[in-house]
Amino acid sequence: MLSITVNKTRCIGSGDCVESAPAVFQLDADAKSEVVNPTGAADSTIIAAARSCPVKAITVMDGDTQLFPLPKK
Ligand code: SF4
Repeated sequence: MLSITVNKTRCIGSGDCVESAPAVFQLDADAKSEVVNPTGAADSTIIAAARSCPVKAITVMDGDTQLFPLPKK
């Protein structure tokens, strides 16, 4: 299972992640994204949702490996 975190301070509530993976992300009462079900979509869909975030507020980890954003070399 992927570990997904949303930086709510950075999130601007654009809803892109919710549109990409509505079973995984929902906007909370403050219009900030939160993870409601980390297994609600295929891993590739979750990564695509993280990539769709205009402010890169979503981090996706697989164990100790960070899948998104990819660490800079
Ligand atoms: S795409 Fe990014 S800014 Fe938009 S709601 Fe999701 S986490 Fe927030």
